[in-house]
Amino acid sequence: EVAPGAWRAGLELELPEGAARHVQVLRHQPGDALRLFDGHGGDWQATVLAMARRSVQVRLDQPLPVHRELPAPIHLAVGMPANERMDALVEKATELGVTALWPLHTRRSVLRLSGERAAKKIAHWQAVAVSAAEQCGRDRIPAVHPVQDWAAFWGQSWPRLSAGDAAGVSAATMSAHVLTLEEGAEPWWQTCAAQATPVAVLLASGPEGGLDEAELAQARAAGAQPASLGPRVLRADTAPLQALGVWAARWSA
Ligand code: SAM
Repeated sequence: EVAPGAWRAGLELELPEGAARHVQVLRHQPGDALRLFDGHGGDWQATVLAMARRSVQVRLDQPLPVHRELPAPIHLAVGMPANERMDALVEKATELGVTALWPLHTRRSVLRLSGERAAKKIAHWQAVAVSAAEQCGRDRIPAVHPVQDWAAFWGQSWPRLSAGDAAGVSAATMSAHVLTLEEGAEPWWQTCAAQATPVAVLLASGPEGGLDEAELAQARAAGAQPASLGPRVLRADTAPLQALGVWAARWSA
């Protein structure tokens, strides 16, 4: 990842460690063409100049047109599932086009993170997002926000969602689709299908033990509507991914 707009044709640079490893695994050689992305919406054609055991030197040749992002931002606020499930959730959500992830503590959260442990986990999940974005050719790397409590999350003001998001989405439309995933509510599919133009969405879902009534009420007080994914009880990582997948399919035609 580099500063926005820093890349230009002719620039020679060394790939970051993860990307260099990827190039080595693909058995590229000096002279091969690569497609690189700068993490800020820019794709570039590049040429491998030199390779050593752990480093790859490239030259940027020309910018390439890209259109792989969803037309409006979609944010996931999740009661973090424990074990490796959050890793999988970050990876898959990135592939499906998520704009940002907001890992949350809820009353029934099994995973509790604070201090240095929390910071390390966020850095790890951000690295998972970078690598998934590279693998699937995203133009933008989703942000993984610091862990916070459910109540604090709903206490913030929603125009914050617009920061760094797809262009042309106003704060007014931002607050139009704020949803909590709840069994037995209005089906999410109907909301998606009825949508004539892309709007920003915030989806919030619970951890393994679900959300309690007080938490659902907090979200509703902040403007969230309940949305269901059908009659089966989905795991804490499956539910947001299904919702995101449905939305991504709706706007990826
Ligand atoms: N026993 C928990 C309960 O009754 O809430 C189950 C929680 S479920 C494993 C984890 C989260 O996934 C829920 O809090 C909810 O946000 C979401 N979820 C699971 N199945 C869902 C469904 N069919 N529709 C909407 N959301 C669902």
